[in-house]
Amino acid sequence: MARYTDSVCKLCRRERQKLFLKGQKCFTEKCPIENRSYPPGQHGLSRRSKISEYGVQLREKQKIKRIYGLLETQFRNYFEKAIKAKGITGENLVKFLERRLDNVVFRLGFASSRKQARQLIRHRHILVNNKSVDIPAYLLAAGDIIKIKDKSKRLDLVHNSLKKVRDNTYNWLSVDKATLSGTFVQVPERTEVPLNANEQLVVELYSK
Ligand code: SF4
Repeated sequence: MARYTDSVCKLCRRERQKLFLKGQKCFTEKCPIENRSYPPGQHGLSRRSKISEYGVQLREKQKIKRIYGLLETQFRNYFEKAIKAKGITGENLVKFLERRLDNVVFRLGFASSRKQARQLIRHRHILVNNKSVDIPAYLLAAGDIIKIKDKSKRLDLVHNSLKKVRDNTYNWLSVDKATLSGTFVQVPERTEVPLNANEQLVVELYSK
């Protein structure tokens, strides 16, 4: 499968805001966007600031896609599912993205970024309802229990990440740091998801 291999910080600079793709570095002054909040490349600084309605919608779609670390086809598939689901399409889209296993492993604090969460999952360190799952896109349902496998409980990566997580950060998740397990209590409402983006612009873009 195709993968983005260039510097992820360039993605933040392209969107002119922090997308928090690099774990702890994002919270330090080493974050490049602190000093260079303009798009990368030779013409980054001089790029015109006024963009069309289409451009605004496109950038918002790119931003959400990048935050969750998805390729265009994957993102579009979630949108198609969101249309078919009951409710508001934009909100459905965010709910599908939040149900991904890599997102939940990250939000539980077992990894410091979604990328790192994907690594943990692909390397088979994660159990869902006591079964090994190595698919980052696995969609969780209310009540699912996510655990770090016993033989993986010593991983520094997990402990270092958990140290920096506050307790009870999200009310749709519960985490037990002692047993390295967590529960996806329920699908969050859009208002509960800390996603600084306007998903309605994605709906408008794809509806053209
Ligand atoms: Fe984005 Fe994090 Fe890189 Fe900063 S350090 S530019 S927030 S990925």
